Amino acid sequence: MSKYFSPEVETASREELDKLQTERLIEQVKHVYDNVPLYRERMDKLKVKPEDIKSLDDLKKLPFTSKQDLRDTYPYGMFAVPMSEVTRIQASSGTTGKQIVVGYTDDDLDVWDTCCARQLVAAGATKEDKVHVSYGYGLFTGGLGLHGGSHKLGCTTIPVSSGNTARQLTIMKDFGSDVLGCTPSYAMYLGESAAKAGIDTSKLPLRIGIFGAEPWTEEMRRNIEKSLNIKAYDIYGLTEICGPGVAYECAEQKGMHVNEDHFIIEIIDPETGEPKPDGEKGEIVFSCLTKKAFPLLRFRTKDIGIITHEKCACGRTFVRMSKPLGRVDDMLIVRGVNLFPSQIEAVLLGMNHSPNYQIIVDRSGSLDSIEVDIEMNEEHFSDKTSDITKMERELENEFKSALGITPKVKLVSPDTIPRSEGKAVRVVDKRKVYEDK
Ligand code: ADP
Ligand code: ZN
Repeated sequence: MSKYFSPEVETASREELDKLQTERLIEQVKHVYDNVPLYRERMDKLKVKPEDIKSLDDLKKLPFTSKQDLRDTYPYGMFAVPMSEVTRIQASSGTTGKQIVVGYTDDDLDVWDTCCARQLVAAGATKEDKVHVSYGYGLFTGGLGLHGGSHKLGCTTIPVSSGNTARQLTIMKDFGSDVLGCTPSYAMYLGESAAKAGIDTSKLPLRIGIFGAEPWTEEMRRNIEKSLNIKAYDIYGLTEICGPGVAYECAEQKGMHVNEDHFIIEIIDPETGEPKPDGEKGEIVFSCLTKKAFPLLRFRTKDIGIITHEKCACGRTFVRMSKPLGRVDDMLIVRGVNLFPSQIEAVLLGMNHSPNYQIIVDRSGSLDSIEVDIEMNEEHFSDKTSDITKMERELENEFKSALGITPKVKLVSPDTIPRSEGKAVRVVDKRKVYEDK
């Protein structure tokens, strides 16, 4: 069994990779210019023609793409092939309203599967293994992403999806799962639940975990490795680029290799947009080289990271990115759901409540809790306690249907939310999800 799923590309020389990326970039820019009105308009405005893109260095001539662009063109405005060629749709995790809708051709799905298969092989999985997928299935990319990789490698795929922890543990034990894929916080929860149920994880076949879709620390890794008695690997991705498998960790566990035959990574200064060199922290930006249905150029992820082209002891030559070290914006990931404070604000305004609020996120054991404290306006303030409790429940229900998660709501007296320099502090995240760097 090879150490690599795609040995020729995963260990290609930098010159070979540059050549491949250049050829693919030139072709991709033509494809988007011809088929996506937004890119054609932006490039025309910048007076850049597809013919002007001749080398990787020319990438910086191209316009950036933002999440807002995807919202503005919702649902299909960024699709670059006729709908008859789109064989799958997925959407960003999270909430109602304007999700980000992405599409794949059959070839795009094959690329995605390949990227996830590379992760499995890098983590030491083989076709003999049973891969237990506890990422959510459905529009969220986690489940079907790892599922596709497992199928591609020829493993026995167990498509459990998320939830029902007791059943997960029974399946793990009785079916003999070798590899587990889920969010790191759920892996922690499974570990705790196994201990509570008196399951000795050292007696289970399980030996590999593929965890991603949310930030996690080295401390969490050690915790999961111990409680589930496995080796835990980090996998990174985002719906806009393809889902999980944009970058994957090898056995060295010193950063994640970016699948460079399909994606170009850049680190930029989030203020100026200028590219940054290896080793410097900045915003992570991706361009898709081969995707045909939803091919984004220079997509700004808002994740902060560092890259290195240094040689990796595993033999892979793909550039490595650090774990995301934070966000440029104020997006939170709570129980796997992406959440922006502006969504909380919209609900409050819609219900005629004060927009003075504070979100407090915490984690006890492996479970995220979220509380929203809201200042009452004068008229509510004079209400009876029972009315206030009723209002709190109403708000909780409203958040549930608007956000997909239910925070605990606390109505507090006017002017009690702390303000720093006169500005209210909107988010207090007590969890430590990012490493300090
Ligand atoms: P998914 O949750 O399926 O990966 P989303 O598009 O919903 O995709 O969310 C993508 C975001 O999730 C990324 O921009 C990043 O902030 C976060 N994320 C994904 N994988 C990781 C990871 N391994 N470590 C830290 N953050 C991650
Ligand atoms: Zn490596």
